[in-house]
Amino acid sequence: MACHANYANFQGNYKEEGFNDLNNIYQLCWPNGEIFFKIEIFESQALLEKVYEAINHWNRVNFPHCVFKLASNQSYWVTFIQDKSGGCPKADIGCLHIQDQVISLPEFYPDGSEVLEECILHEMMHCAGFRHEHQRNDRDEHLKVVEEGFDYDVKKLKLIITIKP
Ligand SMILES: [Zn+2]
Repeated sequence: MACHANYANFQGNYKEEGFNDLNNIYQLCWPNGEIFFKIEIFESQALLEKVYEAINHWNRVNFPHCVFKLASNQSYWVTFIQDKSGGCPKADIGCLHIQDQVISLPEFYPDGSEVLEECILHEMMHCAGFRHEHQRNDRDEHLKVVEEGFDYDVKKLKLIITIKP
């Protein structure tokens, strides 16, 4: 299923917020590995429960390195919202240090199938800073990507952020 990792928003906010080193991974990271969140899903109890399951799953697996924590008095956070238009899931990439960063989730995909917990975890990965592997700048050294026929973004991203092990 398609997923829109919101690189454009990331890039825009990056400039507006005055970040000056696009290759500095630390500006993209959530400080202390803490991803503060709010949930504003009011229409679908089923989707709300799946979001909580995904957060619990994430925290079981990733504690103590990268944890989703309920926001209280933080100055920025990510908000899980429901996309009532039924679009594909979307997420901003990394920490934007803003208050309107979102993980946007429909209850159902356009083909009528349910959004699964793993779809939510996928978007949470984007929020933590991961992009799609097929969008890596060096992907052509490893993959042959046929861009025609895709209804979502398979373009390479110019920004390279390398995390050294
Ligand atoms: Zn994605």
